[in-house]
Amino acid sequence: MQISPIPALDDETNQIRLLTADIVANHVIPNEHFLARRKDPEAHKHWGRLMNLVKERGLWAPHLPQEYGGMGIGFLKLAYMNEILAWSPYSNPIFGILAPNSGNQKILVKYGTEEQKKKWLEPLIAGTMQSCFAMTEPNAAGSDPRSIQTTAVRKGDDWVINGHKWYSSNARRADIAIVMCRTEDVSDADVNGRMTQIIVPTDTPGYNYIRDIPVWGHENGHHGEIIFDDCRVPLANALGRAGSGHQAAQDRLGAGRVYHCMNCIGQMWRAFDMMVKRSIEREVHGGPLETKQFIQGFIADSYMDIQASRLMTIRCAELMEQGRDARTDISAIKVFVPNAMHRVVDRAIQVHGALGVSAETPLEGMYRGARTLRLADGPDEVHRILIAKNVLKTYHNGESWDFGL
Ligand SMILES: Cc1cc2nc3c(=O)[nH]c(=O)nc-3n(C[C@H](O)[C@H](O)[C@H](O)COP(=O)(O)OP(=O)(O)OC[C@H]3O[C@@H](n4cnc5c(N)ncnc54)[C@H](O)[C@@H]3O)c2cc1C
Repeated sequence: MQISPIPALDDETNQIRLLTADIVANHVIPNEHFLARRKDPEAHKHWGRLMNLVKERGLWAPHLPQEYGGMGIGFLKLAYMNEILAWSPYSNPIFGILAPNSGNQKILVKYGTEEQKKKWLEPLIAGTMQSCFAMTEPNAAGSDPRSIQTTAVRKGDDWVINGHKWYSSNARRADIAIVMCRTEDVSDADVNGRMTQIIVPTDTPGYNYIRDIPVWGHENGHHGEIIFDDCRVPLANALGRAGSGHQAAQDRLGAGRVYHCMNCIGQMWRAFDMMVKRSIEREVHGGPLETKQFIQGFIADSYMDIQASRLMTIRCAELMEQGRDARTDISAIKVFVPNAMHRVVDRAIQVHGALGVSAETPLEGMYRGARTLRLADGPDEVHRILIAKNVLKTYHNGESWDFGL
């Protein structure tokens, strides 16, 4: 896979894209089968060699500011980088990005006190600590985070947390959980203003790790179920001001949705590349697949899905970079792009025949990932409702929707 500089982009962004593409296309993708053997000591050494190469080229931890050992490149450049990283499922950890630690690192950079940064951010960056983010609940908050039932009540110098969470990714390995709690005593009339994110070390009494929920396509995801039973942590463990939990979650998820979508686009790009190459190489019924109109239709439809996804997502990222209200566009890409990826990967699988559903190609993993992403980070229906709500509100205010903005 290869790329050229994009004329509309500045030199630095193009340089980052080209350097990233060189490592992913020439060093990561050709070694995928080897990198998959994580327990093999030789493969382990190779992971280390590739991480060193990334560091030598100045591409390590692009999501972090320079003062924390990252690239400090900002939102838009990172979005462009994400698209290329997604060509291979192995790139992100090789470039120092490991969800959900990377999201938690960013939220600690923005909201953490100096003491919290020393205690938790530095070890998270050094890789000596792991973390998870616990918002979703089995009996309440999922697609409606305003219904969170987990409570944190002030008692003396502590928060006392009671509640039930699940789907907290990476929970089994986590040393700390960032837990979204309802803090009723914060005097804000709006329910959003009553949520607080609290950092809970996972060895705190009352923090009960129950089990991993097996999720397809996420064999190493460790999506955990956790029960908080009178779990006490100091008041100083609140992340940001008490009551700012909803805003902090929006900060995390808004940018995260653009990254997820750029990631989907990178995966579609790889699936498309594989589909076209396979259609040229594979001969059936008297000729290569590329000569069959059904297959040409797959190629054309996938081209349109990728271009539409890319233009929508880049426009949304530009709005965010300019500090403009991108909420409607964030919801639009969150629905459109994972669905487009689902279609593109499905066609690529079809062109590969039985090989497409084997573990010999990355396509089956992409397919499961695309389906899952239609639920995670807000299901399709919730984002559709938000788009319609924002549009209708504009019209009720006597204006019309300006697509040119
Ligand atoms: C792989 C994966 C990783 C995850 N990681 C994390 C994590 O690290 N931390 C965390 O806190 N959570 C995590 N989640 C949870 C995820 O954020 C929730 O699953 C998601 O928000 C949806 O919530 P729910 O599953 O409770 O669905 P529900 O809220 O039960 O909704 C079920 C369905 O109802 C429909 N629906 C909902 N509202 C409406 C409406 N208003 N109108 C019409 N239809 C509607 C939608 O089709 C929706 O899919 C993860 C999920 C997955 C799959």
